[in-house]
Amino acid sequence: MFDALPLPAHEWPMMQPGWVWLCGAGPGDPGLLTIHALNALRQADVVVYDALVQECILDWAPQAEKIYAGKRGGKPSAVQRDISLRLVDLARAGKRVLRLKGGDPFVFGRGGEEAQTLVQHGVPVRIIPGISAGIGGLAYAGIPVTHRDVNQSVTFVTGHDQTGNAPASLNWKALAEGSQVLVIYMGMKHAAQISASLMEHGRDPDEPCAVVCNATTPQQQVIETTLSRMAADIEASGLEPPALLCIGRSVLMRQVLDWQGQMAGEPVRDMDPLGRGLAAEVA
Ligand code: SAH
Repeated sequence: MFDALPLPAHEWPMMQPGWVWLCGAGPGDPGLLTIHALNALRQADVVVYDALVQECILDWAPQAEKIYAGKRGGKPSAVQRDISLRLVDLARAGKRVLRLKGGDPFVFGRGGEEAQTLVQHGVPVRIIPGISAGIGGLAYAGIPVTHRDVNQSVTFVTGHDQTGNAPASLNWKALAEGSQVLVIYMGMKHAAQISASLMEHGRDPDEPCAVVCNATTPQQQVIETTLSRMAADIEASGLEPPALLCIGRSVLMRQVLDWQGQMAGEPVRDMDPLGRGLAAEVA
């Protein structure tokens, strides 16, 4: 049935042989792909995909060869170089190459490095953004990444650096004092260190936090906790990455906006979790 679905009428770009399209696949739910991504899936000769790309998305490119380029965080950067050079080789062999990455290719995805290597080797690239897990994944958990009563800024943080450790270069004092809401990618392993660093610099141990695991997929699981309890709750839950940590009062909005829970018949827990009065929106 899906194959019969035409793309909406528009001048969609054609993939040319020898090009690489570096494309975000969104956080998981295939419905969160962009139309540009779908257009690319239909034309590609080869799809080079990451661990976080859902299988069913690949089924939408039945004509294409599939190459798995997944790797876990913390492995040597040589692996990244191999992937980039593989893309160069494929493009030089005249293939239409779709490089498909989870979320958005330029958000903690090393898309910048890959694109740079391609350009350095004279390979033409097109960049197709995707919905990043830190925005779309939180939305599926009923957490607005910004909410007027809570935050006028949001900080996206990576929980580990190239060596696999919690990033030493991060200024935790500045983050603790200046970030109204923190959204932490790849933070599961170092959750204890992250929360300790934030509390050490004055962050409230009772600040609401959420851990959103496998967001937007049928396996999505959410833990609601506090900064001081977060690491222990992760440990006790047995949840595994991929997961996002969200630290901030916007997590409270889940009490009214957990739309997936509501779809499953759960009641709204609090119509006004921030205590702004029910007429806040119309004011
Ligand atoms: N480029 C991606 C992020 C890649 S880094 C993006 O824009 O979303 C990988 C990290 O992203 C994971 O460790 C996790 O923190 C987060 N992530 C990606 N997909 C996720 C999902 N479906 N649920 C929860 N976290 C996810």
